[in-house]
Amino acid sequence: MEATATRISDNAPGKYYVTSNCNGCGICFSYALQNFMYSNDSTYYYVYSQPVDEREETDIRRAMEVCPMDCIRDDSDKN
Ligand code: SF4
Repeated sequence: MEATATRISDNAPGKYYVTSNCNGCGICFSYALQNFMYSNDSTYYYVYSQPVDEREETDIRRAMEVCPMDCIRDDSDKN
């Protein structure tokens, strides 16, 4: 399943992004209000803003840990 997940086009340019596996639960938003936003139809969330400081970076890392679909990714984890 994960192999077919794609980066949602709404994601802000940068290393963090949400994939198409998102189920729209909104847990990420509760952990990182500044960085995630819901889609117009509320069916998925995406990275609205990349972290601008350590605190926001920590918030996103926490959201990654609790995301039930494991669909918040960090580009810099690759390779
Ligand atoms: S926690 Fe994960 S599955 Fe839930 S809305 Fe956020 S990115 Fe999507």
